[in-house]
Amino acid sequence: MPNLQIVAPRIRGFICLNAHPAGCAANVERQIAVVRGSAATSPRPGGEPYHVLVLGASTGYGLSSLLTTVFGYGARALGVCLERPPQGDKPASAGWYNLVAAHAEARAAGRALETVNGDAYSAEVKAEVLERLRRWGRKLDAVVYSLASPRRTDPRTGETFTSVLKPLGAAYRSKSINLGNDQVVDVELAPATEADVTATVKVMGGEDWDLWMSALLDADLLAPGCRTVAYSYLGPELTYPIYRSGTIGRAKEHLEQTAHALTATLGARLGGAAFVSVNKAVVTQASSAIPVVPLYISLLYRVMKARGSHEGTIEQAVRLFRDHLAPGHTPETDEAGRIRLDDRELAPDVQAEVSRLWAEVSTANLGALSDYAGFKQEFRALFGFEVPGIDYGEPVDLDLRMP
Ligand code: NAD
Repeated sequence: MPNLQIVAPRIRGFICLNAHPAGCAANVERQIAVVRGSAATSPRPGGEPYHVLVLGASTGYGLSSLLTTVFGYGARALGVCLERPPQGDKPASAGWYNLVAAHAEARAAGRALETVNGDAYSAEVKAEVLERLRRWGRKLDAVVYSLASPRRTDPRTGETFTSVLKPLGAAYRSKSINLGNDQVVDVELAPATEADVTATVKVMGGEDWDLWMSALLDADLLAPGCRTVAYSYLGPELTYPIYRSGTIGRAKEHLEQTAHALTATLGARLGGAAFVSVNKAVVTQASSAIPVVPLYISLLYRVMKARGSHEGTIEQAVRLFRDHLAPGHTPETDEAGRIRLDDRELAPDVQAEVSRLWAEVSTANLGALSDYAGFKQEFRALFGFEVPGIDYGEPVDLDLRMP
């Protein structure tokens, strides 16, 4: 029996408490259309199937990576996520509905897609994924690591760590947007303690990526030449105190060290390699929660859209596979071994314009100087709201399940 309901957004600051199934499905369809319309994607040369594991596959960069490999390269894929199923009159989370739609599209296109919904940091979910992959009887060509979480329980000790977004050393004062009332405000962020840094590295550093790759390697589930990628962000000087030079920056440094260690192991054992891909700032559930960043993104979007260089997660994922990771391509990296998809964001003319606007922006001119309207619309669209073509007056079935 379908559970038909009219769903209106319930937004609290940078969190949306519900999601619209039809809007989420439309987002997924739009992303698949971008993948299919991208001339450079093609099935794997020689007709060899491509096998991919995506950790954090339900939203943001991970969802776009999943859709790119499945619909651009005909991959057989397994996605892992932590999403809330529908419960009575309470809609599921957006990532749940995204993957319901991805499964339906995959079925229609004759693609094999599986999902494991559970805590990717746990030993149980790792065991379940290994079991499913053994049943495939094929080894993985690529592993995408795109988890973003506020906390992680270390499976070896049972201790739970909570990541924080704080500057290091000294307090940091900056402009920011209060997403609750759309005011440009001054925020002061207290510096992190050593314990904050340790916890953030535990959650968002490379330890869990390493555990995944070690488990897959030990289980002999990685194909010769297997590549793995984890996502990072550097950003401009404007956001260094809260990002690159803050607690999250430390975690991302650890992620890079992990990539080097993994490349040494994967290279020696399989001729494989691990990469960090530095991606562009985009509106996702994770980025909306970072202080200062929504204001920066609003200005950046305005400048990049005006120049025609704006990209969302799907355009970035298509570029990542087309130019770097897809079979037959050699990733191009910077001097530190990182793939750089943030080149257009960090272009000097883009950053000069963002800095100029940043100095001027206030509550009074926010609408005129920035693309805050675009930020808000994209934020709502993450949850399936304000998506073009959807009639929000129509009841929709909340009780959608993945196969
Ligand atoms: P997101 O919030 O959209 O996605 C996070 C994913 O992780 C979801 O699929 C979620 O279900 C999954 N997840 C979270 N906790 C989990 C758990 N315990 N078990 C299983 N799955 C879990 O985030 P995003 O912005 O796409 O971030 C992904 C990566 O990209 C992060 O490393 C982030 O730092 C990086 N990145 C983001 C941006 C940006 O602007 N958003 C820019 C560059 C790099």
